[in-house]
Amino acid sequence: MTFNDFNFDSQLLEGLQSMGYVKPTPIQAQAIPLILQHKDLIACAQTGTGKTASYLLPVLQHISISDKKHTKALILAPTRELAQQIDQQVEGLAYFAGISSIAVYGGGDGMIYEQQRRAMMEGVDIVIATPGRLIAHLASGVIKLDHLQYLVLDEADRMLDMGFYEDILRIISNFPKERQTLLFSATMPPNIRTLANTILKDPQHINIALSQPAAGISQQVYMVYDNQKVKLISTLLKGGDYKSVLIFCSRKETVKDLNRTLRREGIKSEAFHSDLEQEQRETVLRAFKSRVLPVIIGTDVLSRGIDVEGISLVINFDVPPDPEDYIHRIGRTARAETTGTAITFVNEKDQRRFSFIENLIGKEIPRMTLTAELGEGPVYSPTTRRPSTGGNNRNGKKKVWVKRKA
Ligand code: AMP
Repeated sequence: MTFNDFNFDSQLLEGLQSMGYVKPTPIQAQAIPLILQHKDLIACAQTGTGKTASYLLPVLQHISISDKKHTKALILAPTRELAQQIDQQVEGLAYFAGISSIAVYGGGDGMIYEQQRRAMMEGVDIVIATPGRLIAHLASGVIKLDHLQYLVLDEADRMLDMGFYEDILRIISNFPKERQTLLFSATMPPNIRTLANTILKDPQHINIALSQPAAGISQQVYMVYDNQKVKLISTLLKGGDYKSVLIFCSRKETVKDLNRTLRREGIKSEAFHSDLEQEQRETVLRAFKSRVLPVIIGTDVLSRGIDVEGISLVINFDVPPDPEDYIHRIGRTARAETTGTAITFVNEKDQRRFSFIENLIGKEIPRMTLTAELGEGPVYSPTTRRPSTGGNNRNGKKKVWVKRKA
């Protein structure tokens, strides 16, 4: 199958060419024909599968052949980083089709709010928004969505995890009933199904390799004591030819400490966490994308939706509390069918959590041996009890654990 099979407008094909997309990914091959047939859709797909273009392309195709008087599509996303990234894909794909878009997100200063307000007043074809900020603009009356034809919820599970359920329903109450709704989610817990039943009409279902890391990722694990972790990281970073490295820690205090320590060791790194101002976050990401900065240390704020090509190494300094966050973290490498390495450090306390990750992905991750200089790590002997989240997700809501046979 090629992109020519969808009968896209020639300007859209030019956009695809300029983005370097040659062949549709599996989610694109399945979703695009259904969306072009005006079906509602519920799609289970992670970032890294090409899900963004799978909904953008058919929506752009519809818009390119319709009048451009009103906002036609709204894409809701959980974070400003994801909203900006979707906007960048729209800009690339729609460059030749002359379709306009704006990313609307919270944070920043009054000037950004004003810029967003003005852009929406002037009229824009596609709005990509985080729910909170969109509600503020809707309340001020600046944005009218009464001609909306397409509603996309991207990373819907994340939005519900962040407590946006009511906000989403409130936003939707402003829309025409006759519309096409597309819901994308990495996981399908019961609250997503409830939402889908409320807002979708007779949806088609697509499920792309639920909870499986991309095939190009070489996964490795080190059993370590806490006091071996920093030495191991600097050994790995100094010994390997890694140009772009993401290091994940579950707590921002650990992120800050580790950043200070690595910088003292002469490693060029920056911290990325929720305490940073938006501008600081953007500066860090820009430096990383342009390869000026080789190492970012971040919390899970980094793990979803950050789309940087060519990340060669992801290190989990600790085991994420939720097994599915492991998939999101390591999914930052080996994007779009390239290859990469994902290394996880597991101390004695994290062994049980780690066993749930192996259950989820259904295979054993190769154990690596510490060098003699680092000494021996702990023996791996997890018990079968669940991780200490007590079955709750990070917001304290009941979490459904997906357990698979190893
Ligand atoms: P996503 O899952 O939407 O976050 O996309 C993951 C990455 O794959 C992004 O960097 C996209 O630009 C890229 N991508 C999406 N579709 C294609 C395609 N058909 N061919 C090559 N790269 C793609």
